Amino acid sequence: MVPSDQLPKTYDFANVEERWLGRWRDEDFYFVQDSEKPRFVIDTPPPYPTGSFHIGNALNWCYIDFFARYKRMQGFNVMFPQGWDCHGLPTEVKVEEINRITKNDVSREEFRRLCRELTLNNIRQMRQTLRAMAFSVDWSNEYITMHPDYFKKTQLSFLRMLKSGYIYQSEHPVNFCTRCETAIAFAEVAYDERSTRLNYFDFDGVEIATTRPELLAACVAVAVHPEDQRYHHLKGGLLRVPIFSHTVPVVQDEVVDPSFGSGAVMICTFGDKQDVHWWKQHNLSLRKAIDRRGRMTALAAKYDGMTAAECRTAILADMKDKNMLKKQEDLDQRVGACWRCKTPIEILSERQWFVKIKPDEILDAAHQIRWYPEHMLRRMENWVGQMEWDWCISRQRIFATPIPVWFCRKCGELVVPDEKDLPLDPTLTQPDHACPGCGNNEFIGEEDVLDTWMDSSISVLYVTGWDGSGIPGIFPAQIRPQGHDIIRTWAFYTILRAVALTGQRPWDQILINGMVLGEDGFKMSKSRGNIIVPEEILSKYGADALRQWSATGAATGSDIMFNWNDVVAASRFQTKMWNIARFVLLQLEKEGVDKTIQVTALADRWLLTRLSDTVATVTEAMDQYQFDAALKAIREFAWDVLADNYIELVKGRLYAKDASRKSACLVLHTAYDSICRMLAPFTPYFAEECYSYLNEESVHRQPWVTFTYDDPQALLEGDILTKIVAEVRKFKHDSGLALNAPLGRVTIYTPLAILDEGDMSRTLNADVHWRTDSARLDRVVTDIGFNRSVVGPAFKKQSQAFMEAVRMLTPEQLLDPPATINLEGTEVAVPENAFTPRFSYMEGGARVDVLSVAGVIVTIQRSA
Ligand SMILES: [Zn+2]
Ligand SMILES: [Zn+2]
Repeated sequence: MVPSDQLPKTYDFANVEERWLGRWRDEDFYFVQDSEKPRFVIDTPPPYPTGSFHIGNALNWCYIDFFARYKRMQGFNVMFPQGWDCHGLPTEVKVEEINRITKNDVSREEFRRLCRELTLNNIRQMRQTLRAMAFSVDWSNEYITMHPDYFKKTQLSFLRMLKSGYIYQSEHPVNFCTRCETAIAFAEVAYDERSTRLNYFDFDGVEIATTRPELLAACVAVAVHPEDQRYHHLKGGLLRVPIFSHTVPVVQDEVVDPSFGSGAVMICTFGDKQDVHWWKQHNLSLRKAIDRRGRMTALAAKYDGMTAAECRTAILADMKDKNMLKKQEDLDQRVGACWRCKTPIEILSERQWFVKIKPDEILDAAHQIRWYPEHMLRRMENWVGQMEWDWCISRQRIFATPIPVWFCRKCGELVVPDEKDLPLDPTLTQPDHACPGCGNNEFIGEEDVLDTWMDSSISVLYVTGWDGSGIPGIFPAQIRPQGHDIIRTWAFYTILRAVALTGQRPWDQILINGMVLGEDGFKMSKSRGNIIVPEEILSKYGADALRQWSATGAATGSDIMFNWNDVVAASRFQTKMWNIARFVLLQLEKEGVDKTIQVTALADRWLLTRLSDTVATVTEAMDQYQFDAALKAIREFAWDVLADNYIELVKGRLYAKDASRKSACLVLHTAYDSICRMLAPFTPYFAEECYSYLNEESVHRQPWVTFTYDDPQALLEGDILTKIVAEVRKFKHDSGLALNAPLGRVTIYTPLAILDEGDMSRTLNADVHWRTDSARLDRVVTDIGFNRSVVGPAFKKQSQAFMEAVRMLTPEQLLDPPATINLEGTEVAVPENAFTPRFSYMEGGARVDVLSVAGVIVTIQRSA
């Protein structure tokens, strides 16, 4: 044990955190494959390697680390893997920026190499933050989705799902970002309120209102409501599209709202999802007027090559010239945009790859999973309930997992590789056999690549060791921790893929964390300037303070507003706890700990009871992932119960070298050891530092606290004891007495026969008497308080005389004042609230002060 005079006076988090980070070994957190212990496998979210670990990640990882450390202490064989979800557009864009190129300037392979290089650098930086924050990651289970050993499994899963009919290719309308030049999934469309204009124009004699006149070239029909009298004459007829002159049918559909605009709408391929419905339902033709880059096609005739926006302006101008434009109105509209770049999406009909969505299967698995908090399951149910389109998984990009198929150059037959040949890039290799359809030997490799969610939605299969040969022994995982913003993507896709590939749910439980909002209550964003980066908190207050903030900021699942005050409070708790530690260590050093003695003193038994209750509360909260409740209970016990009440109560005994000092030391040791172990998941550095002064072994190798102590009487009596001490100490303070000044005689009247072994006497420096009878007190009036704001206005110059007269009243009259009083010969009314008698109490002929604490009467006869 370090001598207590060598303990630093203040807690230097920077020094402590750096020191322990250098000493801890990665191996201590490895998952053991052949362990006898129950397993606890975590399907950690693989973050996108942007180079910086943001505060939302930090919150998410704090939650994971709290329960990973807790489960280890509970005897579980924990796997806390760390993945990196590498592929995707943001990295491509960054590479283009950094190298001042576009993806078309270099070969696909060279472009991928640049993306990989940037990603690896970013991963290196983010690993450092993960380590600094003391996350107990199992680095032997790290995975990088762009590495061949990972994307081989993505490709394997693709082939398996293709074979079982879950995956198919088809020409179908999809959401398309013309800036990113790729299809995107329905889940990647972010809706935004935008204001636009509704344009009314003449459509072959029918008035039509549209927000997208540039789609006129893509018009394939005009729809009206079947009951709309205005358009009965058009039934079964054709209309000529203005400007472009092709003819389109008039269709009748119940969905048309006769009160919107003119009640007649044009159907284009495709303005929105409704157009897609109508197009299918009425079996309409397809006119592609906008291409993948958002430019007008040859179908748009003179507008060919313009952007959609340019075309809109040009068409509206032409309509004005031709006197076709009747009026324009402002309109607020919900517009779907690309979630990455915010460009409004187009719906384009393209040959794409799709995953079939079977809502019942997904819901069934979702219901077998335990959701924390429970209401998050509703979000999944709602999302599944509104699925209309299959999941589009092909992307027209480069830095992604290649789709491992070829097409026969001659007959177009789809050719797939042998599973043993994975991973592969079909644009770089050829099948090793001839086309089964026509025997030809020339193939075109698929250039489309997979949606990044196709990689990350098998994370749980990857970490549990899935290789296609069967269901892994450690599948399903025990838990998936993730944010509520990706329930409809990552959680949804993972469930879908697990069911498709294994027939089972992916995890037993899912734990949802909220989002971190800026100090102003808004989502953090560059434009608002409200971004807080973890590194700033780490350098100012350290990892443990940041981790405490994560735990106490909000209930699990709720959004959490960042607040520096919470970080400061966390740091203050460490300072307070460090003072407690120094005091306790000093006492234990003097005495040593005798674990064989019997604890008998009331204060000691009371503390052990409170500790036992705290352990139960914290354990239950940890089991339910309620980190805020757990850490608050630990803080309250350490600060209020142990430091402010217990230590104050037994200080006298500890200084007095009383025979019962050993008992207090044993209690201090038990409480200290328990606090260190309960704090270990939350503040790993601080807990390790405190624990190291008492023990050789790391606190992180200790079992969770199971301490129990049942003594209801000690709890009841100890609560009274500590409350009285607190009140009397307050009385001393309010009376201007030093806390250690002699107080005199304190008598406590309670029917309980409390034996406090002199603790109260010593801590109050008073002669304390416990009595089970009732107090006999005489009340005497000692003073009268006058209310000058009543007396002054009522009596003016006679005020003094009024007060004299009141002072002449008997104590009984003061308690029940007469209606009038004689003032210099005249009876005058006594106004209400003119005065208040002040009392003193006498006990056995001596004047005493009286306190009532939790229904117990305490008298204090102060020493002369
Ligand atoms: Zn985009
Ligand atoms: Zn062929």
